[in-house]
Amino acid sequence: MRSAVLDRVARIRDDDLPAYVHDLADLRRHVHAIRAVLPERVELLYAAKANSDPLILRTLAGYVDGFEVASGGELSHVRGLVPDAPIAFGGPGKTQAELARALDCAVERLHIESEHELRLVTTLLGERTVDALLRVNLPVDVGRAALAMGGHPSPFGMDPAQLDRCLEVIDCDPRVRLRGLHLHLASGLRATAQLALIDEVLAWAEGWARRRGTDLAEVNVGGGMGVDYDHPARRFDWPAFGAGLRRLLSRHPRLTLRIEPGRSVTAYCGWYVTQVLDVKFSRGQAFAVLRGGTHHLRTPAAKQHDQPFEVIPDDAWPRHWERPEARDEPVTLVGQLCTPKDVLARRVRVERLRVGDRVAFAMAGAYAWNISHHAFLMHPHPTFHHVDDAEVPVTGTHARQRS
Ligand SMILES: *Cc1c(COP(=O)(O)O)cnc(C)c1O
Repeated sequence: MRSAVLDRVARIRDDDLPAYVHDLADLRRHVHAIRAVLPERVELLYAAKANSDPLILRTLAGYVDGFEVASGGELSHVRGLVPDAPIAFGGPGKTQAELARALDCAVERLHIESEHELRLVTTLLGERTVDALLRVNLPVDVGRAALAMGGHPSPFGMDPAQLDRCLEVIDCDPRVRLRGLHLHLASGLRATAQLALIDEVLAWAEGWARRRGTDLAEVNVGGGMGVDYDHPARRFDWPAFGAGLRRLLSRHPRLTLRIEPGRSVTAYCGWYVTQVLDVKFSRGQAFAVLRGGTHHLRTPAAKQHDQPFEVIPDDAWPRHWERPEARDEPVTLVGQLCTPKDVLARRVRVERLRVGDRVAFAMAGAYAWNISHHAFLMHPHPTFHHVDDAEVPVTGTHARQRS
């Protein structure tokens, strides 16, 4: 943990734990570094569903080309916070009211998931136009991805045959401007696997456009850049990815590529900080019971990993009895919920962990608080803190347009 973040954590009172601490300076540096290795003709959108914390969105606005939203709620939230940022609206099930709102907001892109959705949009357009991508589920092998959204039967996007039926609708309706295709096939891929998939997808997309005699200006290949919770230091290789995209795009000279990562952008900037309430031994195994739990940080339960953590020792011990502790042994870190599923990390060796010590869970900046079942057991919500101690020049296209 950086010292500026540690300083902030030290100033949080016990009763204000658990706490989410977001390191905005680190986020700024990270997204700036991503941006710096992406070649021209690659546009970077941030998938807001990964973490829609207002300060995170405002911070990112200076570095990204826009935001991808997946509901009417996210659309209103992002529009309200960063009014002039371009927004792409996707998601497998959109209500008529959400589609109408998207058109009222003049979203920059609408990602259309089916022929039915396209037809519904045409009934809502009136005098307006819309720039659309058709989301397709290609028969490609997504290999060992953590989450596969495509390449097999799925509710996401449409089969290639459906694309052609959509083209017929669009050919008769000039209000729908087809910009290209959208594909978000898998999550959790490393850079080389991601590049191989994009290569395959682009070849298919251009072949399809050629056969159909349609102009393909843009392909959005989604997000899913891998985040390895078991090896926090093994980050997605953005420089290799950027260099690979440059090579790929040289073979597609007129194409703009869009990516819309979420997890890989914000995962590393978030910390869930809490405190050990009790340490006990059950049949010889050590358990540390923490304030809060997976109803605040569902990520390890959802993805079935051990959330990486750091121990922040607290030497104060006001009681007259001996302080319960685990020493140089594997400990299972659990929360306050009355369920055996409330496990944040299982049998991880610690040097020393005592009642009163603080535990800071790393990589809690994506799919963390916002995917958690907060109401379960009615514990107080965490407090939220932001550390922003460094300036990094803004570099996004959107930022350039604004300044
Ligand atoms: C969830 C999602 C993303 C972001 O995925 P990450 O794994 O967070 O990078 C991007 N695009 C679409 C369509 C999604 O559903």
